[in-house]
Amino acid sequence: MRNGGGRTSHTHLNGLAATQEPFAIILGCSDSRVPAEIVFDQGLGDLFVIRVAGNIVAPSQIGSVEFAAARAGARLVVVLGHSRCGAILATLEELARPSNDQSRNLRSIVERIRPAIQPILMSQITPTDDVLIRRAVRANVTASVSHLRHGSDVLERLIQTDGLVIVGAEYCLETGVVEFFDGV
Ligand SMILES: [Zn+2]
Repeated sequence: MRNGGGRTSHTHLNGLAATQEPFAIILGCSDSRVPAEIVFDQGLGDLFVIRVAGNIVAPSQIGSVEFAAARAGARLVVVLGHSRCGAILATLEELARPSNDQSRNLRSIVERIRPAIQPILMSQITPTDDVLIRRAVRANVTASVSHLRHGSDVLERLIQTDGLVIVGAEYCLETGVVEFFDGV
């Protein structure tokens, strides 16, 4: 990890203006408390960051990862979920009490999260349960990792032949610690 010294100098900016070589791609949540560059203490040009509520994977997110991996050369993709994610909570609420007044656009996010966490909800009692929320956050990250690994011919080829690695992680709002998942 590089420190922040000189990362906004004119020399550094001039170098970056010509090209970018981020070493990692982060697909994270838009939550204001989880800015990837600050969480990982990185500077300009270090991370290629895609942020969307609930760190979901839709075609435009896959396209962004493909761009950064194929053209900018990054070989590490981190799907970064976080504790108390509002998008997960909204999906759990929707599953518990379906409503019709949700906008079509917001619903499109919930619908992407729903398949990952529906099985967990079936085996639990109440959606306000902390354990349930934690499991749902992790299941959603795992689903996004799987979707990126298997939902793109470009990424699949880079994984098989060119060292691309896609992993899941969770940022804890309370402690500031990022935990990387094994075996996902
Ligand atoms: Zn979130």
